[in-house]
Amino acid sequence: MRALFLGTADGHTSARRDHSGILIQTPESSLLLDCGAAAARFFLRKKLDPDIPEVLWLSHMHSDHIGQVSSLIQSLWLRTRRAPLHVFGPAKVLEAMKDWLEKCLLFPELIGFPIHWHPVKPGKPVVHGAFTFTAFATEHLASLASYFKRTYPQTCFDCYGVVIDHDGRRYVYSADLAHPRELAPALEGGKVNGLICELTHFPERELFRYIASYPVESVWITHYPDHLVRREAELKSIAKEEKFRGDVHLMQDKVAHEI
Ligand SMILES: [Zn+2]
Repeated sequence: MRALFLGTADGHTSARRDHSGILIQTPESSLLLDCGAAAARFFLRKKLDPDIPEVLWLSHMHSDHIGQVSSLIQSLWLRTRRAPLHVFGPAKVLEAMKDWLEKCLLFPELIGFPIHWHPVKPGKPVVHGAFTFTAFATEHLASLASYFKRTYPQTCFDCYGVVIDHDGRRYVYSADLAHPRELAPALEGGKVNGLICELTHFPERELFRYIASYPVESVWITHYPDHLVRREAELKSIAKEEKFRGDVHLMQDKVAHEI
């Protein structure tokens, strides 16, 4: 399948790179992993059919992951999409987005296509067409939760990565992590053909050190800070030092790869 990285920047505003968003396309379906990048403008520029994406995965509430959802929905409405949109993610994220779309005047009766909300639970596989999604919870927002959850009980502090099984191959999207050890439930299920991983919330070396003992064929690094731009060779040598034997790719904005 094809992975197109709409944005590879982390939570800091980058002058040259967009926030999170990875478009996965297979012959029969399409999936957008997070929507912090200006997806609507990119899809229009590339003349993508408005029925793309079929599925949207929302990992957590940070704006660099969900900040462009309402712009995308408005664009798909005005481009007369008709196919249903299936949205997966933590239950409270979906509730918040549903509410936000209503606040943005994007009513279900208005937009011309149904949105099906699919709350997921960590460790419970969900089959959707040729995809099987299995969420895993990360600790990305645990520290914030310890300070603010009591004062803001309506805010969602969950962050879910996902294992994507498709056509006998296995992919992992890390979402945001506090530490690579949170990938354990995703990496313990056998060979991983591609790990799409963030690289901003822990030292680079920690990632390769941790995944070296797992059968990961390729790592596709995204969501990284500006100081790592064009440092793929250095990351590859760190990976080698840590005895990680898979391929290492530092992704660039708007570049597609077969994964
Ligand atoms: Zn985040």
